[in-house]
Amino acid sequence: MRAAQLDKAGDPIRIVDVPEPTASAGQVLIKVAAVGVCHSDLAIQAQIPGMPPVRHFPLILGHEITGYVHALGEGVTGFEIGDAVGVWPGWGDRTCVVCRSGYEHLCPNIQFPGVVIDGGWADFMLIPHADYLIPLGDLDPIVAAPLTDAGLTSFGAVSKILPLLTNADTSVIVIGAGGLGQFAIKYFKALTPTKVIALDIEESKRANALVIGADHAFDSTEEDIADKIREVTTDKLGVTAVLDFVGIDDTLTLAANVVIPRGRVTLVGINGGSLPFAYGSTQQEVQLSTSTLGTREDFAEVIRLARENGINVNTTHFDLEDVNQALADLASHKIPERAVLIL
Ligand SMILES: [Zn+2]
Repeated sequence: MRAAQLDKAGDPIRIVDVPEPTASAGQVLIKVAAVGVCHSDLAIQAQIPGMPPVRHFPLILGHEITGYVHALGEGVTGFEIGDAVGVWPGWGDRTCVVCRSGYEHLCPNIQFPGVVIDGGWADFMLIPHADYLIPLGDLDPIVAAPLTDAGLTSFGAVSKILPLLTNADTSVIVIGAGGLGQFAIKYFKALTPTKVIALDIEESKRANALVIGADHAFDSTEEDIADKIREVTTDKLGVTAVLDFVGIDDTLTLAANVVIPRGRVTLVGINGGSLPFAYGSTQQEVQLSTSTLGTREDFAEVIRLARENGINVNTTHFDLEDVNQALADLASHKIPERAVLIL
């Protein structure tokens, strides 16, 4: 079968012929249908510090994977040959206390496919456990591919604060109205009565945020931005929660400044920003949290919201052989939303 592999850090991706895997007991072989090409693939290719360490070279990249069930290992139930599936990528060791508590995607021994071990830029892919697959039903696998990472990471952050957003007095700020932020705005509007405030430095992204449902959109670098935000909140006291998809010092400082007591600041963006943690650094009893990927249940909800509410992104398509072009276009910001390899 064809596979697109990285031989060593910094190399171009090479299309090679490798043996087709076979499914052992409990495993599922999928015929890959579509796989995203995302900015983290550029980081993996360059092996930028901070990425989870690669287990082996050569490595088949590709972590936003959808496909069709091609062969079922002994004992696998619940799937038929030909079923369209999305691959939940939060693979852990399944033995440690973190995995056993239901948070396998946070496993210290994470085995993220396409990042740590072989992924989906190939004709076929072996899935080690059937419960990593979520049925897509009638959802197009090309549409679903970016949902497995971008959609999931956004929803993973959204789902943590949904319990706070139960009435119309609540409000939430989405900092960064790009790919993940757009998903978050749509999820909040579909699932809560909360007021959504989008912040972005780009005028076009603010305009788009309003089109997709944000109640307000501000430039986060405006003077008196904190006052402008408080002005549109209930009792002018501030927001219930902040999702920071940018994650620089300025955005985190703003978040801490405008959140109300007992509110929540969730950091998703990995741009190295930090916030002091002390009495007085924000309101009383504010919870600060990072958010990484999402649970299997989050992924099932992302697929449901795509099927029933049409929440997805636009995709730009490439053949597997053109993966280096896809990466180059991504690096030079020529991809409007998400790039997807069609197998
Ligand atoms: Zn584990």
